[in-house]
Amino acid sequence: MPLSDNYDGFLIDLDGVVWTGREPVPGSPEALATMLEAGKEIVFVTNNPSKRPEEYAERLAGMGVQVGPERIVTAGIVTARLAAEAAPGGAALVLGFEPLKELVAGEGLRLVDFEEPTEAAVVVVSGWREFDYMSLLAAKRALDAGAALVATSHDATMPMPGGEWPGTGAILAAVEVASGKKAEIAGKPERHLFDLALSRMNGAKRVAMIGDRLSSDIAGGQGAGLDTILVLSGTSGPGGGSEDPATSDVKPTLTVANLAALVA
Ligand SMILES: [Mg+2]
Repeated sequence: MPLSDNYDGFLIDLDGVVWTGREPVPGSPEALATMLEAGKEIVFVTNNPSKRPEEYAERLAGMGVQVGPERIVTAGIVTARLAAEAAPGGAALVLGFEPLKELVAGEGLRLVDFEEPTEAAVVVVSGWREFDYMSLLAAKRALDAGAALVATSHDATMPMPGGEWPGTGAILAAVEVASGKKAEIAGKPERHLFDLALSRMNGAKRVAMIGDRLSSDIAGGQGAGLDTILVLSGTSGPGGGSEDPATSDVKPTLTVANLAALVA
């Protein structure tokens, strides 16, 4: 019996599990298609809000995995909600890509630009390739003037072909050090993203969280009361990943090489 048959639903991380950068993890698309054909409920949960759920759904469809955008939950959604709670009807300085800005604006917050940082009542931080000294300075000015600080995650790195790239946590560390403030985290391992993802399940009773990062996917899944399955195809893997299952205090329910091993 395939290991996946111990469950009827899965929360599944994307980066390092389904793909690395734009390259599918070998065997993952086929494994996901097999799970869906077997009637497993899947909700994808990613700390990466650089794309819209519709865009992730299109990329999955291009790999033969057919799911609606409502089956993809990004940390951007819960981060925008937390920002709106921290500064209802106020203004936000967003260090992140356009899809995150859209979500923040969609929660009724006005977006301020980097020339007027002290107008912001909340600073929102995410992984962002355009991050530079001037955006760090703007964030510090806003935070020094009393703005709240909300971030998608503490994830230090992001699995990519050829080795990990700096993640949201690396940028957030700079903002936290410069401002002396600590961010409220919306994504994994905190509960917000798990609660939203579980609310998208249509009745699965035995649900497991599958991810590649011990400190967010597995720790968060445990915090949400779920069984957890670590895959070694990303951040915790033998190919230069930055988290080591051998030395981590976080112990998943099950460890497998990759998604394909769950349906074999
Ligand atoms: Mg991951």
